[in-house]
Amino acid sequence: MDILFVDKLEAASNLPRPDRDATPRQQRYYVWTVGCQMNISDSDRLEAALQGVGYSPATRPEDASFIVLNSCSVRASAEERILGKIGELQRIKRALPDTKIVLWGCMVGPNNESIFKARLPMVDHFVSPSAVDQVVALAPNPIYQIDEPALPVRDWTSPPVSVHVPIQYGCNMTCAYCVIPLRRGRERSRSLEEIAEEVRRIVARGAKEITLLGQIVDSWGHDLPGRPTLANLIETVHDTPGLLRLRFLTSHPAWMTDRLVATVARLPRCQPELNLPVQAGHDAVLKIMRRGYTVARYRDLVGKIRAAIPNVALTTDVIVGHPGETREHFEHTVALANEIRFDKIHIAPFSARPGTLAYEQEHDPALAVSAEEKHERRRMLEQVQERIATEINARFLDQTVEVLVEGEAKGKWRGRTGGNKLVFFEHPADWTGRLAQVHITQTSPWSLQGRVLSSAEK
Ligand code: SF4
Repeated sequence: MDILFVDKLEAASNLPRPDRDATPRQQRYYVWTVGCQMNISDSDRLEAALQGVGYSPATRPEDASFIVLNSCSVRASAEERILGKIGELQRIKRALPDTKIVLWGCMVGPNNESIFKARLPMVDHFVSPSAVDQVVALAPNPIYQIDEPALPVRDWTSPPVSVHVPIQYGCNMTCAYCVIPLRRGRERSRSLEEIAEEVRRIVARGAKEITLLGQIVDSWGHDLPGRPTLANLIETVHDTPGLLRLRFLTSHPAWMTDRLVATVARLPRCQPELNLPVQAGHDAVLKIMRRGYTVARYRDLVGKIRAAIPNVALTTDVIVGHPGETREHFEHTVALANEIRFDKIHIAPFSARPGTLAYEQEHDPALAVSAEEKHERRRMLEQVQERIATEINARFLDQTVEVLVEGEAKGKWRGRTGGNKLVFFEHPADWTGRLAQVHITQTSPWSLQGRVLSSAEK
């Protein structure tokens, strides 16, 4: 689960929607996505693949004959949203019985399909995570035939400025709280050549920034012949003509090597940003969580990263209220947040997922943390983090930052700094996909505002 689940629920697909209003409902799809960057990337690929067989997107489910729900089961609230959505779709299916509904993604595990079939009769098919080609094969009215599997590589006709490229599927770790290994299976790394070719193709078609994506992205390659490393992969894709920025997520502290840190520090298109989930600030909780490192080791790693990349922006994930976490343990997490001063913390109250070790622990009264206490801990940590992020971002006031502009939002240009700070500015020209020098005039814990410098001011 070391991937940014917390504030990306119901995330929008990145794929541009072609305007094909004349397309009949029989050739329209509707994809609804809940969950992490991996799900968003899978949905982007699915949409590209469906468009490849002649489908067009619909903005409302009732305008589509093929509906795909890409689900997440990392938190109970994500599953509830999907089940609520399926309830809404039942009405459409009754009125338009030719509608085909597919439940896809992490909710569909090897052992629960029969349970869902009985519980959700309006769903026609259940497909495991990432199996894009299986979903495309279920589309009822393709105009063109698929002559090769849709995964792992699909062409983008018009990619967005920033594209996430999955380089690895599954996870071999056994973190006590996490359902990902049960749903996505063992780690499978894609080959270096295949990834490099996909990056080359996406960038040639207009993307400027690539984020290499994996559940433990820094373990990439250990299952491939010759055991290449993420540093090798980064060195290979870094010089892709036209590529401006390169990032990767999500890293695991136990796999982050000195060589990888040195590579990020050395290569100019690697951005000074790392997401390094710590999850808890006390060794006893890290042990219960089965994370495979100690607080001292994490602290040491952060020291090495900051020594090598002085301007690095560090983000992390924290679970509060894990079974066995006492108030005193939690206070160590708050102390660690104050000590390290992360740029951002994705905070999640513990959510028990059936099949995990922590699910059993949650039912032990000696270990469980009450719902009120979990929410109180989240609130406390959020307050601490808001103060820290306010202070960190205030340092950008009156500074000039380089921003890669992703697009427009509410009449302003929206882009990101190398450290992934969100920046907004107004300007009459089209800045999409360009690097802007922005003088920061206003800061908040969540974003920066500024004005773009004229060429005379740079
Ligand atoms: S098992 Fe652990 S390392 Fe693997 S995805 Fe889950 S949280 Fe991340």
